[in-house]
Amino acid sequence: MEFIDLKKQYGRIKPRIQQRINAVLDHGKFIMGPEVAELEKQLALFVGSKHCVSCANGTDALLLSLLAHEVGPGDAVFTTPFTFIATAEVICLLGATPVFVDVDSDTYNIDPTKLEEAIVDARKGMVRGATVAKPLNPRGIIPVDLFGLPADYDRINGIAKQHGLFVLEDAAQSLGGSYKGKRVGNLADITATSFFPAKPLGGYGDGGAVFTNNDVMADRLRSLREHGKGSHKYDNVRIGINGRLDTLQAAILLPKLEVFESEIKARQDVAERYSSAFKALMLMKVPHVPDGLLSAWAQYSLVVEKRDRYLSKLKELGIPTAVYYPRPLHLQTAFAHLGYQAGDCPIAEHLSDRIFSLPMHPYLEIEDQDRIIEAVRKAHGEATAE
Ligand SMILES: *Cc1c(COP(=O)(O)O)cnc(C)c1O
Repeated sequence: MEFIDLKKQYGRIKPRIQQRINAVLDHGKFIMGPEVAELEKQLALFVGSKHCVSCANGTDALLLSLLAHEVGPGDAVFTTPFTFIATAEVICLLGATPVFVDVDSDTYNIDPTKLEEAIVDARKGMVRGATVAKPLNPRGIIPVDLFGLPADYDRINGIAKQHGLFVLEDAAQSLGGSYKGKRVGNLADITATSFFPAKPLGGYGDGGAVFTNNDVMADRLRSLREHGKGSHKYDNVRIGINGRLDTLQAAILLPKLEVFESEIKARQDVAERYSSAFKALMLMKVPHVPDGLLSAWAQYSLVVEKRDRYLSKLKELGIPTAVYYPRPLHLQTAFAHLGYQAGDCPIAEHLSDRIFSLPMHPYLEIEDQDRIIEAVRKAHGEATAE
């Protein structure tokens, strides 16, 4: 059994993918070929946003979005510590300061109440309760839709508006999800997503995209992803990056987008089956999806005591698992210079010690789901005995 089985999907759409790859090999426009524009058009339609600007990977999607907002030294960007390094890495790359705000204990996404407190504190020259040498200039918020579940955008957008901040949604895990009838990609000022193979819409290599309804931002993003070009390639009007999506990846993603809707549906079925089996188990927390939200189920994660015992039992029974994330960002060596300490984000720390993820993908057969459920029950029985 695989944690994420990418071969089953390939089996379903193999002829379409090969046909599209061959078309690119035949026309030879490997950089910014027609498939790139076609994919951007289809993705914008899918999420319901005015613009889609594809790029080389999800990290570049975040970086380009911050560059488009001209984020730099002295700026504070508020984000969650319970995420992949890329979310906060890009803030530091631009010389700005990430301010880590603890997560909600039910959704594992950034806690809006703590977010507002942190913004007010930063304005007063305080970060995590301590006075900083130079007051920071609050500029933006990067909520992460962890495991595919959209963050609380009504509250986050309200706070952002009140404080004059932009909202950059890190939707690397949540493309295909929705919030109160609106699709991810259309919930914040600007949205960054990833097509890394293991993400809900994954390619066969790196890829990413930015969504926005803002014409000025879209123009800047298109310029920034090609070295800050102006009217043509050798007219350079700003400092940018080489951040284009390869034509071949666009060609691969197009047929995948055709089946994406049905895959999101299949992921709901797996998650529902898991949750209805695990809800009955005491001392185990199943994922919480607030009313009106749809998760893209990039991961299905359980929170338990004595996690090691579950992981070793599941391994013994042939069930692959993964831990996202074993150490929250505020305690990572890369951010040691920011001076955070254990206890600064207690909920993220609590989760890091107790969370683990089960196999989750749209092609997980019922028999495999049953095997996984049975194995979790067994592990639970042993871990909670006496
Ligand atoms: C995967 C991921 C990224 C980075 O995407 P890449 O395409 O790997 O660069 C950023 N943020 C989150 C939350 C992710 O899961």
